[in-house]
Amino acid sequence: MKRIRFFQTVQWKVVILYLLLILIAMQVIGAYFIRATESYYLNNFNETLNTQANLLAVNVEKYLEEENIPREDIDNLIHNLFALRNADVQLLDQNGIVLTTTEENKAFIGQKNTRAEINMALLGTRNESIQYNPETRQRVKVLALPIKKGTKILGVLYMVASMEEVYHTMRQINGIFATGTVLALLLTAALGIVLSRTITTPVKEITRQATAMVGGDFNGQVRIYSEDEIGQLGETFNLLTRKLKQALSQTEAEKEKLSSILTNMTDGVIAADGNHNIILVNKPAQRILGVGYKKVLGKNLYEVLAIPGEEEWDFLFKENGSMLMDMNVDGEERLIRFSFTVLKSRGEEEKSGIIAVLQDVTEQEAMEKERKEFVANVSHELRTPLTTLKSYLEALEEGVIDDPALSRRFLRVLLNETDRMTRLVTDLLQLSRYDAGQYMLDLQPLSVHELLQDVSERFALRSQQEKIALRLDLPVDSLPLVKADRDNIIQVLDNLISNSMKYSNENTTVVIRAHKEENAVRIEIIDEGMGIRRRDLDRIFERFYRVDKARSRSAGGTGLGLSIARQIVLVHGGTIEIDSEWQKGTRVSFTLPLYGENEDEA
Ligand code: ATP
Ligand code: MG
Repeated sequence: MKRIRFFQTVQWKVVILYLLLILIAMQVIGAYFIRATESYYLNNFNETLNTQANLLAVNVEKYLEEENIPREDIDNLIHNLFALRNADVQLLDQNGIVLTTTEENKAFIGQKNTRAEINMALLGTRNESIQYNPETRQRVKVLALPIKKGTKILGVLYMVASMEEVYHTMRQINGIFATGTVLALLLTAALGIVLSRTITTPVKEITRQATAMVGGDFNGQVRIYSEDEIGQLGETFNLLTRKLKQALSQTEAEKEKLSSILTNMTDGVIAADGNHNIILVNKPAQRILGVGYKKVLGKNLYEVLAIPGEEEWDFLFKENGSMLMDMNVDGEERLIRFSFTVLKSRGEEEKSGIIAVLQDVTEQEAMEKERKEFVANVSHELRTPLTTLKSYLEALEEGVIDDPALSRRFLRVLLNETDRMTRLVTDLLQLSRYDAGQYMLDLQPLSVHELLQDVSERFALRSQQEKIALRLDLPVDSLPLVKADRDNIIQVLDNLISNSMKYSNENTTVVIRAHKEENAVRIEIIDEGMGIRRRDLDRIFERFYRVDKARSRSAGGTGLGLSIARQIVLVHGGTIEIDSEWQKGTRVSFTLPLYGENEDEA
C-alpha cells in the first residue's frame, strides 16, 4: 500500500475544514461583537464628557456674567465639579483668556489660548474632535463648548480627555477574544483529529484488507467500529470478501476437477488459443508428443505437431477434422489419431481456440485390420469350394449326369467340397464361440496315457496308408491325471498329429511324447517333415495362416487348426509352443495342468 503524505490525508483535510469553520465563525462573531462593544464604550465616554461639560457650563455661567469674575470660586467649582479621570479642562473668558484650568501647569492662567477649536467656540459653535497626541501617543477627545447667555458668548469651556482607557479596554477585549479563538482552534484541531480518525481508521482497515485481497488473501475480515454508513461499508465489504472467497474456491474446485480429469484421462489433450498458441497440454499428450509441458506452452500448435504448412492443414482447424499420424511413443511406433475441435465463443465468428484430442488407435486399427482380413479370408475360403461345386454341378447338368461312372466321381468331389465347407463353418463357429467366451468345457480327471493311446490307435490306419510311422514314447511310470475336457484335447491332438502327417514325407516318423513337469504334463508331437521357416513361425497360430496355401488346401486344410488348438490349450490353463527347423522337422508341445488332490475330494 502506498504511503500517503500527511497533507494529503483525509484527517488533515477534516482538521483544516474544522479550523477554517471555527476561524470564520470567530471572525464574523468577533467583528460584530467588537464593533458593538467599541461603539458602546465610545458613546458612554462621549456622554460622560458632554454631561460634565454641560454641568460645568451651567454652573459657571453665573460667575462669568459678573463684572469681576471671582476666580477663586470658579477655581473651586471647576476642581470640585470636574470628576473625570485623565481629562483636563480650561475655562476661558469671552476673549479667550484662560480663567482657570485643572492642569498641573498653571502657567496658562491669564494667557490667551488661540486654538482653532476655541476660536470657533468663541464664535458660538460647539465643536468636538478626536485628536492624536504624538507626544503621549494617545488619542484624546477635544471639546470646546461656548457658554452663552442668550446670544451673548460669556466664555468657553475647553476639555481634553484621554480616550486611552476606552481603547485599553477594547484592547483587552480583543486580547480575550484572540486567546479564545486560539484556544477554540486548538481544541477544534484536537477534536478534528480524533473525529476524523473515526472515519479514516475503518477506511484504512478496508484499504488494508483490499490490498491483502489483491495479494490473494481472502481470510481477513474488517473490524466494524460503528453502525453508521462507514460501518455499513465495512459490513458490505466483509460480505463481498466472503462471496469472493466462495466464488474463488468454486472456480478453484472446478479447475481442480478439470485438471484432474485432463491428467487422468488416457487420451491426450492439447488446447490452443485463437492464434494457435498452445495453452494446455495434458500428461498423455506430453507422452505422445515426447515433450515437456514447459517446452510447448505458448508455442505454435503447427510447429509442435510438426505439421508443415499452415495453409495446407488449415482445413483441420477450420472445420472439425481429424488425421492419423505415426508417432514414436516411448520408443514404440504408435498410430495416433488427432481430432480437432474448433471452439467458437457464442455470437462470435472469430474462432477462440482449438482443442486437439490425441488417441492411441494402434490396437484399434490392428484389430480393425484383422477383422477385415478375417472377413476376406472367410469369403475366400468359402468361394473356392463354392466355385468347384458350381462347375461340377454345371458339368452334371450339361450331360455328365448321363454317364453313371463319371457322375459318381463328380458326386464324390461334391461331397468332399461340402464336407470341407461344413468343417470350415464348424471351425469358425467354434472360434467365434471361444471369442465370445463360451467354452462349454467339461473338465474331468484325464489319464494322458490312455488318451494318447486312443488317439494313436485312431491314426494307425492313416499311418500305414501314408507310410509314416507313428511312435508313442511314454514314461514307464504312470503319469499323473490332468484336468481337461477330453473331446477338446482330442481335437487338439487330432490336428497336431494330422499336421505332422500332412507335412511329412513317406518313411519318416512322428513321435508322440509325454512327461511330467512341475504342475503340468507336457505332450509333444515331433515329426521329421518339411518344417516351417523361421519367418512363418511367429504367425503360425494366426487364423487362416498357412505356409503353403496350395499344399494345405489340397490336403483339405483351412489354416484354422492351430489357432483353435491354441485357444483350447490356453482355456485349459496350459501353454502351447512350436519350434521347427526348415526341411528337418517340427516339434509342437503343449501342457495341461494336473488334476489336484483337493479337487478329487471336491
Ligand atoms: P486345418 O488344420 O484347419 O485343416 P491346416 O493344417 O492347414 O488346416 P493349421 O493346422 O492351422 O492349418 O496349420 C497352419 C499351417 O502351419 C499349415 O498350413 C502348415 O503350412 C503349417 N504347419 C502346421 N504344422 C506343421 C508341421 N508339423 N510341419 C510343417 N508345417 C506345418
Ligand atoms: Mg491342421
